[in-house]
Amino acid sequence: MNDPRRALPAVGTLLELEGVRALLASAPRPLVADAARDAVEAVRRDPALAPATDEGWTGAVARHLEARQRPSLRRVINATGVVLHTNLGRAPLAQAAIDAIADIAAGFSTLEYDAEAGARGSRHAHCAALLAELTGAEDALVVNNCAAALVLALNTLADGRHAIISRGELVEIGGSFRVPDIMAKSGARLVEVGTTNRTHPDDYRRALSSATGAIVAVHRSNFALEGFVASVPVRELVPIAAEGGVPLLHDFGSGLMVDLAPWGLTGEPTAREAVRAGASLVLMSGDKLLGGPQAGLIVGTRTLVGALRRNPLARALRVDKLTLAALHATLALYRDPARAVREIPALAMITAPVELLRARAERLAASLQAAGMDARAVASEATVGGGAFPTAVIPSAAVALDPAIEPRLRHGRVPVVGRVADGRLLLDLRAVAPGEDELLAALAVDAR
Ligand SMILES: *Cc1c(COP(=O)(O)O)cnc(C)c1O
Repeated sequence: MNDPRRALPAVGTLLELEGVRALLASAPRPLVADAARDAVEAVRRDPALAPATDEGWTGAVARHLEARQRPSLRRVINATGVVLHTNLGRAPLAQAAIDAIADIAAGFSTLEYDAEAGARGSRHAHCAALLAELTGAEDALVVNNCAAALVLALNTLADGRHAIISRGELVEIGGSFRVPDIMAKSGARLVEVGTTNRTHPDDYRRALSSATGAIVAVHRSNFALEGFVASVPVRELVPIAAEGGVPLLHDFGSGLMVDLAPWGLTGEPTAREAVRAGASLVLMSGDKLLGGPQAGLIVGTRTLVGALRRNPLARALRVDKLTLAALHATLALYRDPARAVREIPALAMITAPVELLRARAERLAASLQAAGMDARAVASEATVGGGAFPTAVIPSAAVALDPAIEPRLRHGRVPVVGRVADGRLLLDLRAVAPGEDELLAALAVDAR
């Protein structure tokens, strides 16, 4: 008979509590009422949560109100050791890109206006020249992401026609991106050649016909093929595409703009190398190794980029002014590659000396120990992520904690996402900005 649900207060009663009435000063009444309903509902589901006092109920309503007001898209601290983490928003932006967004966002802009001529301009003009300058291509076009770039390119060049691709490149990039599915949506008819592990030049040659719209090369960005393998490099596909009189598309993914070999990262082409290899169009993401906003960058010959620009789909896939502002500012940093590596956060994180990370991990561990926590600085291994340098391991440093605090760290005011390995929670500092250390320490102490 002692059912605590009988004792649940009415929402109207909660709204009369002094503390709850005070909440009305900063939030609209219907929202506070919804929060009160949430608080009652939570106790109905789990009677153990029932507050014993009015203050307890006030606190519960306040917590639910806060939860209802909190945006679902929030900042997190990425302590996973995966720098370009697709689930965590890929590349953080450089300060120059953030400033450019703020400048353009606050007012009106020359988005489609040519101030020089006093006439209508084109939004497609904004990053094209800079992309051409940096990659060596003739022309460029920016769309929403690399998936959109692939759809637009194939729809323009191979709608209702054949797109030839190696079976070794029909890859899945992430849960929602499978190359064959994306290609099919473009209207192109996929013509698969070769086998999973081996594709030869003649496989492409034999597939060429009067129905061919394009040859497609997709970079295997998130895995490595080893063993008895053969594939045809883009450079060798160029003459084959020329024989067939069809364009060659190269989706190279990462958007790498500077050689990272001095930091031990090799095997991934830069955008300039990809263009030099001779594909008619080269496609890449803006928010992977390029370190800019989400975007799909298409660079290539003037004729083909022009044809893509005139496709009505380009209108549907176009980017907004904030993306263009951030992208232009990010690209401009690459005019001085050393500056780009310093100021583009993804590159700065990937290239940070491990000694610096170790020193930060030791400081962090010491401050957590001082707060009575079981914390230790340990060696760790980070990865680039974002479908680039899939097999590269970057030496890193982490703070090892009791894994029991992992859920509390995720539920904190700024969620901290680490990784659990060997029965420990590792907070890897490779993708944590140095300026975040203090906040990270405070959040860890809160989660104790
Ligand atoms: C990541 C990737 C894509 C998808 O890029 P989005 O910008 O996320 O759409 C396409 N192709 C390759 C080769 C990639 O690595």
